[in-house]
Amino acid sequence: MSRVHIIGGGLAGLSAAVELAPQAQVELYEAGPVCGGRARSFHDKALDTVIDNGNHLMLSANPCTFRYLDLLGARHTLQGPGEPIFPWFDLNEQRGWTVRLSPGKIPFWLLSKRRRVPGMTLKETTALVRLMRADDDTVVSDCLAEGALARRLLEPFAVSVMNTPSNESSAALLGNVVRRTLAQGGQACCPWMAAHGLSESFVTPALAYLEQYHASVHTGTRVAALRYERGRVVALETSSGEVALGAEDSVIMAVPAPVATSLLPGLDGPDQFESIANAHFRLPFHLKPRGVVAQARFVGLIGGIAEWVFVHDDVLSVTVSAANRYADRSQTEMLETIWSELLQALNPILEEPLPQLMPTARLIREKRATFAATPEQNRRRPGAATPYINLALAGDWTDTGLPATIEGALQSGLDAVALLGFRSERTRVKAA
Ligand SMILES: Cc1cc2nc3c(=O)[nH]c(=O)nc-3n(C[C@H](O)[C@H](O)[C@H](O)COP(=O)(O)OP(=O)(O)OC[C@H]3O[C@@H](n4cnc5c(N)ncnc54)[C@H](O)[C@@H]3O)c2cc1C
Repeated sequence: MSRVHIIGGGLAGLSAAVELAPQAQVELYEAGPVCGGRARSFHDKALDTVIDNGNHLMLSANPCTFRYLDLLGARHTLQGPGEPIFPWFDLNEQRGWTVRLSPGKIPFWLLSKRRRVPGMTLKETTALVRLMRADDDTVVSDCLAEGALARRLLEPFAVSVMNTPSNESSAALLGNVVRRTLAQGGQACCPWMAAHGLSESFVTPALAYLEQYHASVHTGTRVAALRYERGRVVALETSSGEVALGAEDSVIMAVPAPVATSLLPGLDGPDQFESIANAHFRLPFHLKPRGVVAQARFVGLIGGIAEWVFVHDDVLSVTVSAANRYADRSQTEMLETIWSELLQALNPILEEPLPQLMPTARLIREKRATFAATPEQNRRRPGAATPYINLALAGDWTDTGLPATIEGALQSGLDAVALLGFRSERTRVKAA
């Protein structure tokens, strides 16, 4: 049986490993102590509970995500409202509303004042068409028209999907997401999140699956260099020693862009990044939201720093995307501002109000959360192929046609597997 050496145990590497395990001997090398990369859970000492490095929201229009979870028997570890509903609260106007998409492709929800964005006009929806037709140089803000739809839905949607300010982010890339989601109707837009943590959904089941196939997962093993000879990779230099490759062996490099460009001479990749900040607050009681937030377990905020609030049992987790703009704000300043926003947005819908005094809190800034999804950086994304016949690339930063997301990472793993000539469900998923 040929061996495939996978460098990087993030979701791209795990996706490739899971796909290959029944077909080849998988050797996976992960530099860190655990797998999961930028989508993982850990026990936080200050909060004394398990949290994710960052809240992750997924949409039902993510075929690779749901196929991966189904293969691992882990779909039940996600939770969501079961319908395309998005509760919002505007901090400037102190009012909340819920966008309720209609399930089919015909957007009946736009005709109902109770379901659409308050204050929007139908004319504003032409922004979606402009996004889907945008060329490679256009930025998102050039496609949005002034108005309630842009301010209360499209702009916050764009910033969180692209993790890049709209006046810099690629309209064509966002257009691809719109084509797969909003343009397909509500059934493609049901929100999902990990019920008990990203590792429990995406990592632990993958490791159990790999074990069944006797795949080897070498955590704490950094690959420092690859040796290339006559158009092939012939050896890996790892922190645990050299691994010589057999004539049939191949390699999937599923590491972040800066690592890949250092391991593969001549490779270009994105070199600008955006951060994401996540604030976690541990409450001394279980949170009991009322109404639609009880069903959705999240709420989108506009007009402040906080963008998405995820309501767990006794933890509130808040996402701030495109967070390079807040780099000079101290942890305390960020946490206190976010807490004051939570008091305004959540107290009206909680059975027991939040305490005025901020509880134990933690701010995690992922400095290189994603590549900056600008037109220029998007053009720098390579495909899975390399000049070396037995080496393929994977990772959310490769040219997946999507912004840096779980779906893109999982898809890239399948693409790398197919490129190396193995069976990959990618063809089937693409067709669906
Ligand atoms: C805070 C945050 C919030 C996010 N929110 C969302 C969201 O809401 N929805 C969504 O879909 N996506 C979201 N994302 C994006 C998503 O997490 C990523 O797109 C995805 O996890 C990337 O997976 P990857 O495997 O491509 O890369 P990574 O997760 O970076 O994996 C690369 C792995 O390679 C390892 N590695 C590096 N160098 C070496 C080496 N030399 N040898 C061996 N191993 C090495 C690393 O340790 C890492 O485990 C978010 C990301 C962050 C950080």
